[in-house]
Amino acid sequence: MTIVTGVTVRVPAKLNLQLAVGPPRADGYHDLVTVFHAVSLFDEITAEPARRDGVSVSGEGADRVPADGDNLALRAVSALRAEVPSAPGVHITIAKRIPVAAGLAGGSGDAAAALVACNELWAGGFGPPQLAEIAARVGSDVAFALLGGTAVGRGRGEQLTSALAPATQYHWVLAFADGHLSTPAVYAALDRQRAREQVPAEPGLDAALMSALRSGDARLVGRALSNDLQPAALSLFPALRKTLAAGLELGALGALVSGSGPTCVFLAASADRALDLAASLSGAGVCRSVARASGPAPGAAIISGAR
Ligand code: ATP
Repeated sequence: MTIVTGVTVRVPAKLNLQLAVGPPRADGYHDLVTVFHAVSLFDEITAEPARRDGVSVSGEGADRVPADGDNLALRAVSALRAEVPSAPGVHITIAKRIPVAAGLAGGSGDAAAALVACNELWAGGFGPPQLAEIAARVGSDVAFALLGGTAVGRGRGEQLTSALAPATQYHWVLAFADGHLSTPAVYAALDRQRAREQVPAEPGLDAALMSALRSGDARLVGRALSNDLQPAALSLFPALRKTLAAGLELGALGALVSGSGPTCVFLAASADRALDLAASLSGAGVCRSVARASGPAPGAAIISGAR
């Protein structure tokens, strides 16, 4: 028998290449149609046996992450334990590189990583469909963090279909903002903005974006990026307008606020262009810091400790 003492899992940040938001439902949530895209900016989480469940967090934005049962990784542990009642305690260590409350779903990613790590540590034997079901109970973006790649999400984002795209790698520049946005606050701002508008009952998938992804042409993808939450995010964080404009002026093929923001993302024509754009953006003083990432990246994957 193999004894596994610790399992480390790497999980990517996500962008939304399209985020179409329907009107609020009776339960307050919004139906979405979104095109998720995982990029190579990763958190790492390690699960080790412990007497009681616990979590410690280090790295980017760690002081803003709860170190108790509210941590999404520990919520995922509880959801998996409901299926494996004999499972012992576990300590989760999170090394964050994905900024917190930045519209990059880092918390959901940590939850997905915890599911994968504990499934391995406890020899749970759950396959991808079962893990995806448990993930959907933990949060809307968790199932996508398991899957990775590029995928269409519906419902609250948890009903996923992989988008079969050519092997194109896209080169992104991420501009991290000096500040945060709360996802519920951005949705509330959108509802206020839309109070006097006619909102389509059902959000729809953008055919132009899907055809651009099928063609693998970054120029077309750049032109088709869209986010219904962007006006709401900009109303709460007006400085982002300058960030978006600066990136476009510096030659990005497309620019948008990621999810509920405030991270702004820019598509570059090549790895070299992304390097130039990142350097120029960091010199322009329109954001706190800049990173480069490529996508699609794989979903949550064990990097050490597998049996
Ligand atoms: P969303 O997934 O709603 O778009 P986001 O990507 O903007 O959110 P996250 O970094 O996922 O932001 O964090 C959202 C909130 O979740 C934060 O306020 C944070 O305190 C809380 N949170 C709980 N667990 C975690 C975790 N492991 N990592 C990051 N944030 C966490």
